[in-house]
Amino acid sequence: CGIFGVVGVADAANFVALGLHALQHRGQEAGGIVVHDHEHGFNSARRFGYVRDNFTSHSVMQTLPGPIGIGHVRYSTSGSKGATAIRDVQPFFGEFSMGGAAIAHNGNITNADALRRDLIERGSIFQSSSDSECIIHLMARSMQRNIPERMKDALRSVEGAFSVVAMTRTKLIGVRDPLGVRPLVLGKLGDGWALSSETCALDIVGADFIREIEPGEMVVITEDGVESYHPFEKKPSRFCIFEHVYFSRPDSILGGRSVYETRHQIGVELAREAPVDADLVCPVPDSGTPAAIGYSKESGIPYAMGIIRNQYMGRTFIEPSEQIRNMGVRLKLNVNRALIKGKRVILVDDSVVRGTTSRKIKQMILDAGAAEVHFRIASPPTMWPCFYGVDTPERDKLLAANMNEEEMRVHLGVDSLKFVTLDGLYRAAGVPEGRDAKAPKYCDACFSGEYPVRPTDMMAKGFTL
Ligand code: SF4
Ligand code: MG
Repeated sequence: CGIFGVVGVADAANFVALGLHALQHRGQEAGGIVVHDHEHGFNSARRFGYVRDNFTSHSVMQTLPGPIGIGHVRYSTSGSKGATAIRDVQPFFGEFSMGGAAIAHNGNITNADALRRDLIERGSIFQSSSDSECIIHLMARSMQRNIPERMKDALRSVEGAFSVVAMTRTKLIGVRDPLGVRPLVLGKLGDGWALSSETCALDIVGADFIREIEPGEMVVITEDGVESYHPFEKKPSRFCIFEHVYFSRPDSILGGRSVYETRHQIGVELAREAPVDADLVCPVPDSGTPAAIGYSKESGIPYAMGIIRNQYMGRTFIEPSEQIRNMGVRLKLNVNRALIKGKRVILVDDSVVRGTTSRKIKQMILDAGAAEVHFRIASPPTMWPCFYGVDTPERDKLLAANMNEEEMRVHLGVDSLKFVTLDGLYRAAGVPEGRDAKAPKYCDACFSGEYPVRPTDMMAKGFTL
């Protein structure tokens, strides 16, 4: 998901809508905005579909007045899947004795089932099936006298990955979980402030990137400035390495590194680790593009756009149903036949998950007359599900969890298949010595199976490490 908030600007909702539009790649199912002003109190709009279709018309935006607002774009990793329930669309709102508060959450709470059961037993009335709603109910039960203190209380009993943007009538609040699994950044916007999942959304509103919210940090922002707190026990951070590989936009800066530069460097590492004689290096657009450019540069094999993407389609894996995802490949990608015919092609993609996309793409390339197809993948084999906010499927649907590399090569029907190593990926992501097995700098559980936060709910459902 993507989260964004502003305070201290005229017509906050317009900025929030722009910010969410720049974060649309993080969630395409639905979006919502909450604002507050003195005259009208809290107002909200929550809709299915794209930001540009819902939060541009005057009729909607005029219902969202005020100098403070937050928003969310949704991609379901918990609760109802797809555009099925508007009640699961964030931000969520709660009324407390000291006033209202709204929250928007990116990540996944790994003990949400346990928390929910307990809260319901104690009288909480849940409105949604989303894990994020637990935070509101935990806040309602806290005895603290102000909302930031209640949030601290609530988040101390939450496990898993969370970046949160919240608001009261006057305060914009941002929090990252102790490991900092999901991103969150602070920007200066005119006389006001902005919080965003990624820096690319600061760019769109013309805000200056100030700094990242630190893992385990809470910031409370008013028109007067930013206060910083550290409510959690300090731990070594474990940022999601898959944000660098795929999830974030390439024009964002994560952990002081350009996402584009990291992806380009993964391609360089791949070319060193897994060279092959061929005529062209082609990306699977758009996610494979920077790595393909890096592979081409390092190998000296010309880069070419062998697959053309229809710009009017979204991300395929973010479509939650299998059927839509299957269709998606053809709706989205087509082979550039004139270029491919008779050529030995290296195809570079960011990841192989179920293998359905890769098989179709390989078939399209062969149908177009390619002489050979070599797959190079800019992440290690995805062998484990993510429980922290990326919708990786269960193990039985993950190709790499069920086959070794040679079996995958045969299954995909390609001449060769190579993945970047975990060390190569770490080097590309700014760790020159590679992955330190005793203290890895990133979360890489979907590749390594080493989960930095115990997946409590999933283990109760029988998941074994
Ligand atoms: Fe990111 Fe993978 Fe960790 Fe999930 S399991 S947070 S996708 S690195
Ligand atoms: Mg892709």
